[in-house]
Amino acid sequence: MPSLATLPRDLSKLARYHLYRRAETHPARETELGIVPLDFELDRYVDAVRAFDGARFEVRTEATVTYRDRTHPILSVTSREAAPKTLLVLAGVHGNEHAGLLAVPPILDAWQAEGVRLVVLTPVNPVGAAELSRFNEEGYDINRDFVRFSTPQARVVRDVYDRERPDFVISLHEGPQDATFMFTNRYVDRATGAALCDALAEGGTTLAHKDYFGLRLDPPGLSPSSATGRAVHKIWALTLSMKASISYSEDRGIPEIVLESSWRMTDAAARVRPHVDLVAAVARTM
Ligand SMILES: [Zn+2]
Repeated sequence: MPSLATLPRDLSKLARYHLYRRAETHPARETELGIVPLDFELDRYVDAVRAFDGARFEVRTEATVTYRDRTHPILSVTSREAAPKTLLVLAGVHGNEHAGLLAVPPILDAWQAEGVRLVVLTPVNPVGAAELSRFNEEGYDINRDFVRFSTPQARVVRDVYDRERPDFVISLHEGPQDATFMFTNRYVDRATGAALCDALAEGGTTLAHKDYFGLRLDPPGLSPSSATGRAVHKIWALTLSMKASISYSEDRGIPEIVLESSWRMTDAAARVRPHVDLVAAVARTM
């Protein structure tokens, strides 16, 4: 791991994401990490997700968030068929990573897993999604808040874990690397991770050879849990009180995958596709 001082400018900007639970006091647009905005509009998105309420899915409002006199829902979408296993998908924890949000309608359209209940929580960070901000309405990074639960959004995620008892969690993200990869926690074995990367590649997704820190991925697309990574996460939680959902899941014995498509890509379909394909592929393994 290079020291912070020697990191290229983009990477040192990225490093602040790993040092602060609250980097701002308000939503903040990212201007330096090369995010290509997609065609996303919050109200239209909420309407599109709500429209799935019906015979196949139940759509509920889990919480609301108010910012500048406007109130936005955090929705859950649950498949109605009873099933022994539950797959929880978190979409939009970081508001400016729009591909994972835009993937939700096609994920629901394509959903046909037998034996698996699907629960999608989205948008986890509605104000961030509207404001093109990683952070929530008070400048908190929700995905660093799984120790203190200072944010209503992290508390909603915790409540959904408590209620739904998921057997598997997928959190949909994007990052500044040039292609798609996934982080897996210790409960996703390496063979499963590699097979899921193969499934993405078969669907036409380009897998990254390096993660966003520049570390080589072998096989391409897979950043598996390691003893070093787990030690870093432990220190992070103990010294900075920061924890991401992937470690929170690990604490609870739940396998989690964090998918990271490339926010630098201008091809919206290519950014959305891995999210849709991964949810279907994970459901087939459960
Ligand atoms: Zn993210």
